[in-house]
Amino acid sequence: AKRAGRNGYAIFDPTMTMSVLEEAQLRSDLEHGLEHDEFVVLYQPVVDMQTQRVTSVEALVRWEHPRDGLLGPYHFIAAAEANGLIVPLGRWVLREACAQLARWRAESPAAADLKINVNLSARQFQYAGLVDDVAAALTDAGVEAASLTLEITESMLMEDIETAKRTLHALRELGVRLAIDDFGTGYSSLSYLKQLPVDVIKIDKTFVDDVHIDDDDVALVDAVAGLGQALKMQTVAEGIETDEQWATLRSIGIDHGQGYLFGKPAAPADINALLNGVSAI
Ligand code: C2E
Ligand code: CA
Ligand code: CA
Ligand code: CA
Repeated sequence: AKRAGRNGYAIFDPTMTMSVLEEAQLRSDLEHGLEHDEFVVLYQPVVDMQTQRVTSVEALVRWEHPRDGLLGPYHFIAAAEANGLIVPLGRWVLREACAQLARWRAESPAAADLKINVNLSARQFQYAGLVDDVAAALTDAGVEAASLTLEITESMLMEDIETAKRTLHALRELGVRLAIDDFGTGYSSLSYLKQLPVDVIKIDKTFVDDVHIDDDDVALVDAVAGLGQALKMQTVAEGIETDEQWATLRSIGIDHGQGYLFGKPAAPADINALLNGVSAI
């Protein structure tokens, strides 16, 4: 629902139309936020399905809004996408996540093999400076490219297939890994998927929700697991909340899992504790 901000404009809701004034206000707030370090990145663990060991973390951005409190991406990503500020914001997330990976590694041997996953938006993916931004983020943080996986959605790939392919190959050339996010919710055909240099398929939460009770979901997830095997892509199931879901997905042969069962998005120190077996999130 549209929530009125205390400052007068409504927090962006993609289902509602913003007035020109509200758009301008949010734009200037986003710019101000970027300049004044109001954004933070939380990290959610991704685990090995067999061992539950943390293998990577996904960077998820939040906005510590001075008046409206901590805002999730739903409140501002679509607006930032619409006004173009997603490019500097996304660049900041990317740089911050790489720098954080370097900090974990400096702090603890347990983070030596840890990898990081960063979401890209459509506009960022189309931005001509993307490959240079990614290379600079890695170099400046002193992190090797193979430790970074960029997550993109099917719909981003479908808009302009040839350009998308070129961008993916340029990123691959750098040595970063590529994941298709929210897999199953878009329309990518099998023949098309085969042509893309993708390393990881992330199965959307909607297929995970009832997988322990719905045979249709088992069949679908099983098909994606087979697809991953055939195309030599790793599979990750998103949004795992229960032991039953975990057990079902593990028996299907999904490689990695992510969800509240293993840990919610958390601050860097909590990830450190998790890696060192000090506490569960
Ligand atoms: P996503 O990439 O599909 O990320 C997974 C979302 O599912 C996250 O929501 C995460 O907190 C949530 N989630 C994970 N496990 C569970 C679970 O077990 N149960 C439930 N109910 N939810 C779970 P979040 O952090 O609110 O992010 C929402 C979306 O915002 C992301 O979806 C992604 O599309 C976008 N986003 C987040 N950070 C960034 C960013 O830095 N850049 C861009 N472009 N998009 C971002
Ligand atoms: Ca994602
Ligand atoms: Ca996802
Ligand atoms: Ca999703």
